[in-house]
Amino acid sequence: MSKITISAAGKLQVPQQVEIPFIEGDGVGPEITAVTQKVVDAAVTKAYGGERRILWKEVLAGGKSFEQTGSWLPDETMQAFRDYKVGIKGPLTTPVGGGIRSLNVALRQELDLYVCLRPVRWFRGVVSPVKEPQKVDMHIFRENTEDIYAGIEWQAGTPEAEKFLKFLTDEMGVKKVRFPQSSSFGVKPVSREGSQRLVRSALEYAATRKLPSVTLVHKGNIMKFTEGGFKNWGYDVAEAEFAEQTFTTRQYDAIKKEQGAEAADRAMEAAKTAGKVIVKDVIADAFLQNTLLIPEEYSVIATLNLNGDYISDQLAAMVGGIGIAPGANINYLTGHAIFEATHGTAPNIAGKDTVNPSSLLLSAVMMLEYLGWKEAALLITGAMESSFEAGRATGDLARFMPGGTALSTSAFGEELLGRL
Ligand code: NAD
Repeated sequence: MSKITISAAGKLQVPQQVEIPFIEGDGVGPEITAVTQKVVDAAVTKAYGGERRILWKEVLAGGKSFEQTGSWLPDETMQAFRDYKVGIKGPLTTPVGGGIRSLNVALRQELDLYVCLRPVRWFRGVVSPVKEPQKVDMHIFRENTEDIYAGIEWQAGTPEAEKFLKFLTDEMGVKKVRFPQSSSFGVKPVSREGSQRLVRSALEYAATRKLPSVTLVHKGNIMKFTEGGFKNWGYDVAEAEFAEQTFTTRQYDAIKKEQGAEAADRAMEAAKTAGKVIVKDVIADAFLQNTLLIPEEYSVIATLNLNGDYISDQLAAMVGGIGIAPGANINYLTGHAIFEATHGTAPNIAGKDTVNPSSLLLSAVMMLEYLGWKEAALLITGAMESSFEAGRATGDLARFMPGGTALSTSAFGEELLGRL
């Protein structure tokens, strides 16, 4: 039996020999996948002496799949991710025309992968545009199924947009559309369930890893019921379900109102001393400023879909860019998870043995942690740390390192194998 299952208590059961479906990916996909699997296999062998092993199972998607099967995303691939629960993928060419808008979105929707998790940390040696990149250590929980990304929109000038406008004006009494006849419309659904399952996952993650805070990032000052709802529902879930492990700034404000600032400060200090997770919120625009000014004040970030998109890229840029930023899409309730390179297929450098495999490799590290194989994960991050510190990296990073040596993709893989 080599399949991952989930216990009645919701805990992942991982066999020692575990079958993991992977999509190689288009463009630079084959190059980064080859290096990733080699390094992961070596780290697992080193950590567990042959007791544990990953059995890689290739499944098709994207351009390679279309060429071989005529389908961009065959049913067997979906079924494999459903059955095996945990998988990994390289970047995919987005099909032009046809029924599928994005293969990534299709996979996320099918498995209801409601968390997009992006850890952002700095590796010593990697040149960053900020002065103190060592202060950046954040874990972004981006809601993955709702918000303006739900794709409910109508183009200006279509009968649908006209019908929607008529509904707004005639039935809802809306008079605020500035240019009604030439407007496109989009709908932004944000639910209590959707917000709370995301925030619950972020709180659980922070509490188990003993991280200092969870920050709810939103634009509730403007969008009171959607983004403001996300904030309020987030606080509700912290106070109702994590009362022992958390202290919220909403609780702080209530104490301040009733008993004064000193009592509130004392309660906050006591919570920090007790190792509780501080749950706070910040408006998205202020947050983006603060990530540059006071990044050390943030640890776990829980946010809505669109905010999360912007935040992920800004934070990735602060520690070395998309070539090194890992990601995962997870449903913590069913255990389903797909780990992925966050960059695209990079067609301009495909086949040249120059691509940086770190994004997929660090995604594989996240996958090992998710499986509970922490020792193997640590070996890989240790090897990457020592390699970057020695100025040995692929060209995209090495060219900014003083005295850095630009390695090919495969040579960087060998370098890591030597440093495991
Ligand atoms: P891209 O991420 O592929 O490339 C942007 C730039 O960054 C290019 O100059 C590229 O050479 C460079 N780059 C990207 N990853 C790198 C790495 N690991 N090492 C070194 N340099 C790297 O974005 P794009 O050009 O906008 O998109 C190309 C294709 O990828 C499109 O078909 C797009 O739809 C698809 N795409 C897929 C995903 C995904 O599957 N997750 C994500 C984004 C884009």
